[in-house]
Amino acid sequence: MKILLVMPWEKGYKSYRDIFSKLNAYAPLTLPTLAGIIPKDMNIEVVACDEMIENVEKYYKNHYDIVMIAFITSSSLRAYKIAKEFKTRGSYIVFGGYHTTFMPEEAKEHGDTIIIGEAEVSIPIFLKDYLNKEPKGIYNYPDVKESDRKRPDRTVLKKHKYSGVPTIIANKGCSNNCEFCAISRMSNQVPRCINDVIEEMKSLKKKLFIFFDPNFFGNRQYAINLMTEIAKLKVKWMGAATINSAFDEEIMALAEKSGCIGLLVGIESMNKQSLDSVNKKFVDPNKCKEAISIMQKHGISVNCCFVLGFDTDTEEELMSLPKQVEYLNLNFVRYFILTPGPNSSLFNRLEAEGRILTKDWSKYNQNEVVFTPKNMSKEKLEEIYKYVWKESFRIGNIFRRARNMQNANLYKKFLIFTLNVGFKFVGTGEYKEAN
Ligand code: SF4
Repeated sequence: MKILLVMPWEKGYKSYRDIFSKLNAYAPLTLPTLAGIIPKDMNIEVVACDEMIENVEKYYKNHYDIVMIAFITSSSLRAYKIAKEFKTRGSYIVFGGYHTTFMPEEAKEHGDTIIIGEAEVSIPIFLKDYLNKEPKGIYNYPDVKESDRKRPDRTVLKKHKYSGVPTIIANKGCSNNCEFCAISRMSNQVPRCINDVIEEMKSLKKKLFIFFDPNFFGNRQYAINLMTEIAKLKVKWMGAATINSAFDEEIMALAEKSGCIGLLVGIESMNKQSLDSVNKKFVDPNKCKEAISIMQKHGISVNCCFVLGFDTDTEEELMSLPKQVEYLNLNFVRYFILTPGPNSSLFNRLEAEGRILTKDWSKYNQNEVVFTPKNMSKEKLEEIYKYVWKESFRIGNIFRRARNMQNANLYKKFLIFTLNVGFKFVGTGEYKEAN
């Protein structure tokens, strides 16, 4: 039996996140994770296509018994198109991922089987049913145990197409529940066995790793245990965390000791009211500058994300964001437009208020406005979004962000400078794809 795993990419829109990932060419974890879940004793040939690096069309000429497509909302139309092509060629279509989980009825119209939520338990059960010629339409097994978390099988990736920095994940879950974020609805909080994570890191034989964990310190004791083991490897790593973790001295000391050199932090807004309104109460804008400074003192560069379009955002406040960002002395900054995930509480609230402007999912890419903002027009929000990117990436501001890094040698400052220049071209739309 032959299975094709596909991660579609909607090329029609310019998603900052996707283009940035493409430029950095980080290897995705979705495809290796799915390949790792497929039981080896079933003797299944697994092929993978990541549309970030290659078009799926060339696979149309081969026959696959099953095509599994995992996708996010902005790539859903592309996923349905790909599914149709393979279905006409006789393949059995399985859908999974964020959009399938949140829009199961829609996905079911285009696929044969849908997997809701995490796939670790569902995929082996589905494959057995398929081989017995009795596959079900829906699989939904949310209770994943530690032993179900398999090591990703990277052999399915075309490694030469990606950067040499491996991505890895230890804990997919997050105990917070920010209104605009889908993580806690998608993944439960059962982390991987620490020994297995460490063995995986050793097997990759690299000195730098990027952890895709959405909230690395979220499970505090697990993070302490994991970092204690990572420290023995003498490697460097980057990850994502909440800003308030800076005030946990034990965590910061261990992060430094274990080789953490960079953290991605979602501050989202400098307006406390906005943060409270989306259940991100643990971020206090008045303490962010101090938190960033603490992280930097531990040798950790800080990359902060901000979201534009909360109901309490005013034009004036958003226009002042670049100045506030400079005040924070961070090292990298990224901006996104608030995007309500289909069927999320945010989406349902906006829809009940008649403020959802489009259900063209390809526009749900954090780069376009898909709802009517409360305190300004859609056009104004788009204009401000362009302005904050442009303003924050003036050359003087880029220099300052490199200089801001404490405890860093000239090489590290230069690296921060060049990465900021890369952000500038992608974020301000000055980057154009060749194809
Ligand atoms: S802390 Fe981060 S990962 Fe967790 S729910 Fe909030 S935005 Fe999502």
